[in-house]
Amino acid sequence: MKHTLIKNARIIDDGKDYFADVYIKGNRIEKVSASINLPIETKYDEVNAEGLVLMPGMIDAHVHFREPGLTYKGNMRSESAAAISGGITSIMDMPNTVPAVLTLDILEQKYGIAAENCLTNYSFFMGLSKDNLEEALRASTEDVCGLTDDGLYFDESHPTLCNSLDYLEKIFSSSEHLIALHSEQDAIIKKNYEKARDEFKEFIPLHYHSIIRSSEACITSTKEILSIARKHNTRFHLLHVSTGEEAKLFDNTEPSRSKRLTAEATVHHLYFNTDDYERLGNLIKWNPSVKSALDNRELLEAIKENRIDIVATDHAPHALGEKIGLYDAVKPGGPMVQHALLGVLEFYFKGKLTLNQVVQKTSNGVADLYRIKDRGFIREGYYADLVLVDLETPYKVTESNINYKCNWSPFLSYTFSSTINTVFVNGNKACSNQNLISEIPGKRLKFEKIR
Ligand SMILES: [Zn+2]
Repeated sequence: MKHTLIKNARIIDDGKDYFADVYIKGNRIEKVSASINLPIETKYDEVNAEGLVLMPGMIDAHVHFREPGLTYKGNMRSESAAAISGGITSIMDMPNTVPAVLTLDILEQKYGIAAENCLTNYSFFMGLSKDNLEEALRASTEDVCGLTDDGLYFDESHPTLCNSLDYLEKIFSSSEHLIALHSEQDAIIKKNYEKARDEFKEFIPLHYHSIIRSSEACITSTKEILSIARKHNTRFHLLHVSTGEEAKLFDNTEPSRSKRLTAEATVHHLYFNTDDYERLGNLIKWNPSVKSALDNRELLEAIKENRIDIVATDHAPHALGEKIGLYDAVKPGGPMVQHALLGVLEFYFKGKLTLNQVVQKTSNGVADLYRIKDRGFIREGYYADLVLVDLETPYKVTESNINYKCNWSPFLSYTFSSTINTVFVNGNKACSNQNLISEIPGKRLKFEKIR
């Protein structure tokens, strides 16, 4: 296996900003030091990082790579390649594939697919449904990143699990896993939907999506979940917070690593709001819906204040045809992994986040929150999951440089201020100047036993 010496890097990691050389031996970081000179007989590649910033690769804790079963939208190979070209080196995938990941057998089959096809490192959430609690609890906390209902349909009367409070009590009182949930109250959504349907029949205007799936629906449900989680001291993680109000319900007095209640924001809930429906239409139909420009700002504020612990993508590709049509037919979700890190870096250029805050929310903090072993920091002995970013060269999203299988992006024509230059996954140079140069699969993420 190749060794690599990265020279003259400006390293942003773990609250520090300094210049050093990094020697990668095989899969791992062997040495980080001001100046490294290797013995003459050593065989290695040298990368001159002058003018570039070296950060740990982004760990995206919320993706839908669509395999198995929905591979016309995307597959592990296509979406992980897109993720790498965006500086993401590890992902955690949701269980709403076909079949859904509701048994340990299906979970292991999915790991089998990833071992051959997923180019980033990976872990999978175990799905929660009405009938599989015992099976879900059997999953080892060392092998799955958590339990979740994300993307799954719970039952006829409660489409999402958070609305079935008795069941929530049962899970929260019996699980040692991290439990990550989607939070929107069905009763409120249903009432709003029926009102819109009465008024517009099947021609509900798209911007009503944020009136139907309202802030109230999110806030009401999140308050209920948090009160049950507090009662049982559950390790609960709220997925895709979309309102400033919900972010205020989370505490910032402890580090993410030791908190019992944590939260995630997505890139799209930081970027897009109800004013963008006119320009982007169905492409920005998400669940939870995008909210107001004020919510965008309050979510960013909560990130800075550490009320929101991490940024993820909820990357959920759909075929373009599934984003066209009447309100009811348009699928919620969109592809994000290729532009997520560049997107968060934009807040640095706007003076809203420091580079270290960007790294904290996309990598250091994710490793801490999920207690991932040996990743997420630039440390000797850790896996060499690294990204070199060029902060001087802008990057414009065009039709020809979108790498998703679905081939579209809500960021089309947007120019980011920086470019992903080189990406290393487990010490392999996987991507250089947006070109994938390695087909070596990533590894399964490992976790500390106690979370
Ligand atoms: Zn999701």
